[in-house]
Amino acid sequence: MTSPSPTECFSPSYAAARSAFLRAAADAGAELASFRHPLPGPDGAPLFLDTARFGEPEARRVLFVASGTHGVEGFCGSGIQTWLLRGGVAGRVPEGVALVLVHAVNPWGFAWLRRVNEDNVDVNRNFVDHAKAHPENPDYDGLYGALNPERLDEATLKGCLDQLRLFESERGSAASYRALSGGQYRHPRGVQYGGREAVWSNRVLRALWARHAEGAELAAFVDLHSGLGPRGTGLLLQTAAEASPAAALARAFWPDVIRSEPAAGGDSALVSGLIGPAFVGALPGTPSVGLVLEFGTRDMLQVMLAVQADNWLAQHGARDSAEGRAISQRMREAFFVDEDDWKEKVCERGREVLERALEGMAAWRPAAPAEPDARVRGAGPADLDTLVAFNLAMARETESLALHEPTVRAAVAEFLGDPTRGRWLVLESGGEAAAALMLTPEWSDWRGGFLWWIQNVYVAPAHRRRGHYRRLHEHVRALAERTPGVCGLRLYVEHENAAAQATYRALGMEETHYKLFEQLTRPAPWA
Ligand SMILES: [Zn+2]
Repeated sequence: MTSPSPTECFSPSYAAARSAFLRAAADAGAELASFRHPLPGPDGAPLFLDTARFGEPEARRVLFVASGTHGVEGFCGSGIQTWLLRGGVAGRVPEGVALVLVHAVNPWGFAWLRRVNEDNVDVNRNFVDHAKAHPENPDYDGLYGALNPERLDEATLKGCLDQLRLFESERGSAASYRALSGGQYRHPRGVQYGGREAVWSNRVLRALWARHAEGAELAAFVDLHSGLGPRGTGLLLQTAAEASPAAALARAFWPDVIRSEPAAGGDSALVSGLIGPAFVGALPGTPSVGLVLEFGTRDMLQVMLAVQADNWLAQHGARDSAEGRAISQRMREAFFVDEDDWKEKVCERGREVLERALEGMAAWRPAAPAEPDARVRGAGPADLDTLVAFNLAMARETESLALHEPTVRAAVAEFLGDPTRGRWLVLESGGEAAAALMLTPEWSDWRGGFLWWIQNVYVAPAHRRRGHYRRLHEHVRALAERTPGVCGLRLYVEHENAAAQATYRALGMEETHYKLFEQLTRPAPWA
């Protein structure tokens, strides 16, 4: 397949970028979804965050690639996404993996040529727990005037710069980085403001993580940024602690991933409210990693001065003026380089990072269970004899019933052959089936979810009193918790079976106020 020319995939405005993305995604057969932002763009037109998903609906390894978290940086990220779509990325998503392209996380900033959102909030500093005290950044307080001058004349700007340089020379690069880039939650009119509540982009992203990756077996979030690093270079940056599973995953997928923070006090975080760690925290139980792919544009001072001027414009100037338009244009140029070689470089690097992620996620194997002797697995047709034997033995033991073997055999075979009826799980110990249970779904229209009925619980006599039921039950509960659409577990038990009832209570189940009734319409197939 020939690659499209990168130069034709980058757009001059948010609206053009969005329509190019949507068209390329639709042409590639994406499952599309759009989320409308409450405010319009400068032209009065509505703004959206859009998603394009590829891969099987049941894929349990999910890769997100997002653009426009920092608004105006979307010119770079959106162009890369569109180029990947036109270049056939949909056809390169491996089996078992889903790719979700997220276009314009912060569409307001993208359309208005700002890095922040409509409330002056830096979306990538907003992912703190707003119910708790907000992180402090005392050095920022002291540098407030230098970072957010009220005038933009040359003498004022030189004074600001001198103050910032003096701070760095006195306190060192880590303190300077923390003060200037770490985020602050005290000055709504200053740069690096992280907000006091979860902003729209934060809420939508969390909903997307839940929708696409809840209960996933593996998940990654790559956020496309621009404005930092050497021109055209794409640095993979993350902040996860060296020893964390997230950092290990990142190293496994991308050999060139680097930590974005100067090492200070071990793994102490210098930056608050980042999306990457929030993504990992939002998917407990799922091995996951969230990081930034940052493309260099201009020199750092030029970028910083553009951001400073843009914040001045928002707080003190008039956007609809010659000066205002010049500052907005300067923002676009600080975060996007309208030159062919730059576009080719960022597209190639974007493809490289994406393909490594897709390959790495397809090849990934979960860690071996801690207790290799016992393991839980789904039952298949090969388990037919075992499950029939378990059923006959259970009826004999619990109700002194001799079931009609051919009926049971046909019924179990029918169940195993039709996954929509539910699933049977087998616990293997020492290479043989030691215990089993069956799960069947019941739709709860009160809860809008499925209750799973646990049935046919059986532990073979030689394997009793070894915690096998507990192990199966915990497996089922974890499975239910990470399966979208499942809201709980239920089971019924003989009135007289006190031991089993005690076990269920010990596992956290509560007795219901229901009594179970039945009215059979066909005679039982046993004597
Ligand atoms: Zn950024």
